[in-house]
Amino acid sequence: MNEMDGFRAEVRAWLAENCPPEKRGQMGEDDHCFGGRKWVFKNEAQRVWLERMAARGWTAPEWPAEYGGGGLSPAQGEILRREMARIDAHSPLTSLGIWMLGPALLRFGTEAQKRKYLPGIVRGEIWWAQGYSEPNAGSDLVSLQTKAELVGDEYIVSGQKIWTSYGHKADCLFGLVRTDPDKPRHEGLSFLLIDLTSPGVAASPLRLISGNEHFSQIFFDDVHVPAENIVGTRGRGWDVAKYLLLFERQMIGSMRMGETVRLSDFALAHLGKDGLAAEPLLRARIAEFDLEMAAFETLVARYTEEAMAGVALGAKSSMLKYFGTELNVKRHELMLSVLGTAGLDMDGGDAKIATDWLGALANRIGGGTSEIQLNVVAKRVLELPGG
Ligand SMILES: Cc1cc2nc3c(=O)[nH]c(=O)nc-3n(C[C@H](O)[C@H](O)[C@H](O)COP(=O)(O)OP(=O)(O)OC[C@H]3O[C@@H](n4cnc5c(N)ncnc54)[C@H](O)[C@@H]3O)c2cc1C
Repeated sequence: MNEMDGFRAEVRAWLAENCPPEKRGQMGEDDHCFGGRKWVFKNEAQRVWLERMAARGWTAPEWPAEYGGGGLSPAQGEILRREMARIDAHSPLTSLGIWMLGPALLRFGTEAQKRKYLPGIVRGEIWWAQGYSEPNAGSDLVSLQTKAELVGDEYIVSGQKIWTSYGHKADCLFGLVRTDPDKPRHEGLSFLLIDLTSPGVAASPLRLISGNEHFSQIFFDDVHVPAENIVGTRGRGWDVAKYLLLFERQMIGSMRMGETVRLSDFALAHLGKDGLAAEPLLRARIAEFDLEMAAFETLVARYTEEAMAGVALGAKSSMLKYFGTELNVKRHELMLSVLGTAGLDMDGGDAKIATDWLGALANRIGGGTSEIQLNVVAKRVLELPGG
């Protein structure tokens, strides 16, 4: 048995013993554990699963052990993810801290910041939200106006963020503020960590078309933030923000996108053999989707192999984000075509498909829209001449 087979056997045995049966199978809304200061575990299994995974550092498998991570190599991390997928183990923590802030801190944070924040992120002690977008700064993020003025050893923050996922529930926010208004747009930004319980912060939820209250707007009115909460160099926040976006796009793009039931099986189950035979156009669209899905899975597999060999994904994360989210929209539209008018019945058995479709539409906007991803691919991956 080689070293990796030995590791796989160890992981498999550990998961068999430690992953509670309730934490296996398809994840529903209530199965997500966001953690944080105010988190109330939905059940004992959720608490136990997070505690056990965090104790091994496996909520952040590849982070260095000295900061609470698992200290695994990329190849070992991939084995852990595959073994978890094999038994449909739930992710123990749904955390922007793990997916986004942690990698940025590992690259740009000071030693003190790494020691202060990373172990708590691994254990899910803080619920982090992302404060990039503002009412007049989405795709054109460098237009953002929330200002942070240095007074003594504190920044005084004023302005507004919007579309902040779970901002009204989160404990802390990482985001961009304008510290140097006289400098050119990109150079005047800094990456700041803000405790949302600070006086002067007001967060309110925004209701979506799906009925969910996932988003919020956050107002900052002379909020005092310690100057040591800047990550990276003052005025170079754009570098940190862009680096973090690579991880966000990779994460959104490689989500399993609910492909637990193959589309052709879904169509067969709902229309029956004869019904499907009577729909040649639908069959052709499903076949086309299956081919694209196979291409997407091959792309993900290729990038996974590259990651295991230590090759950074870089701007190619935009390809994953674009391809993955567009396919997910297509998949839901085809499912709705299969269901016909029954798919619009919001109280029926398949009601979730229509709301998931609305969620899929949102996914192609969050983390940068599809058009912006295409711009990145054109410039940074294909290196086409800019206009
Ligand atoms: C599910 C979801 C979660 C989100 N979570 C967060 C969060 O946690 N934190 C946060 O800060 N933000 C979040 N956002 C906001 C998101 O980042 C912005 O909505 C997104 O960047 C687009 O900005 P905008 O809404 O201002 O649209 P705009 O930038 O105004 O874009 C409008 C349209 O113009 C197109 N467009 C704009 N510029 C170009 C261009 N140069 N070339 C071609 N087309 C262009 C866009 O593609 C889009 O179709 C989230 C959004 C969604 C949907």
